[in-house]
Amino acid sequence: MTNVFVISAPSGSGKSTLVSKARELVPGLHFSVSYTTRAPRGKERNGREYYFISRQEFEEMIRKDEFLEYAEVFGTGTDYYGTARRFLREAEQKRDDLLLDIDVQGAAQIKSKISEATSIFILPPDRKELEKRLRVRGLDSAEVIQRRLANASREIENYSKYDYILVNDCLPDSIDALTSILLAERLQRSGVERSADGTKIMERAERCRLRNMEERLQPILASFRLSRR
Ligand code: ADP
Ligand code: 5GP
Repeated sequence: MTNVFVISAPSGSGKSTLVSKARELVPGLHFSVSYTTRAPRGKERNGREYYFISRQEFEEMIRKDEFLEYAEVFGTGTDYYGTARRFLREAEQKRDDLLLDIDVQGAAQIKSKISEATSIFILPPDRKELEKRLRVRGLDSAEVIQRRLANASREIENYSKYDYILVNDCLPDSIDALTSILLAERLQRSGVERSADGTKIMERAERCRLRNMEERLQPILASFRLSRR
């Protein structure tokens, strides 16, 4: 059976870095390339990071019910982003798991359609570090960085809707945590008897469960002037 993994994070948290590592390290992951109406940035290529299409083409795909989920990520009238249904079909045919990198609205739509989907929310260690990463990445103007930070607070408000929380502080630890979550969910659903390594993976993943992260979350939420849900 195909497992569906949904990963969300405020922009600049390190989601792309972590997702590309996980794709290298975990076999059998089918990655969904989203459709978007935003313009390509930097070295992005059509069909690799996104399929870049016009608003008209996107709305045509909506009419044809070609999306599993879609959203106007930065608010009404901004840009559309969507996951095509065909990626789920392809994953099922290849007996792979499906990995979706989508925003909180998209994650909620997936959860309502596929209740057994696993959701993971990636957080930066605090607001200051997020701002620094956005600056160091060098892709956005100062104005866009401020917009991304404001959007980050709104996204983080939704953390409690996710199954797992991953604080991307030390990168090697975060890579280990993410791969453990993916493998632990697979193990749990496979019904295969657990080895010593399997038990370690399950324990590592368990530490990122929402219920085990409340204490670690407090200072992060406070840095974004948010409180516990
Ligand atoms: P996102 O996909 O969430 O927008 P990126 O993966 O582009 O974020 O990461 C934003 C910046 O932060 C990049 O310059 C990346 O190299 C850096 N980065 C990612 N993870 C870490 C980490 N754990 N510690 C320090 N810098 C990181
Ligand atoms: P960016 O423009 O920085 O690449 O992405 C902005 C946001 O759009 C990110 O939070 C990313 O997860 C989200 N996103 C990318 N693809 C999709 C998608 O197909 N559906 C939804 N709902 N969000 C997406």
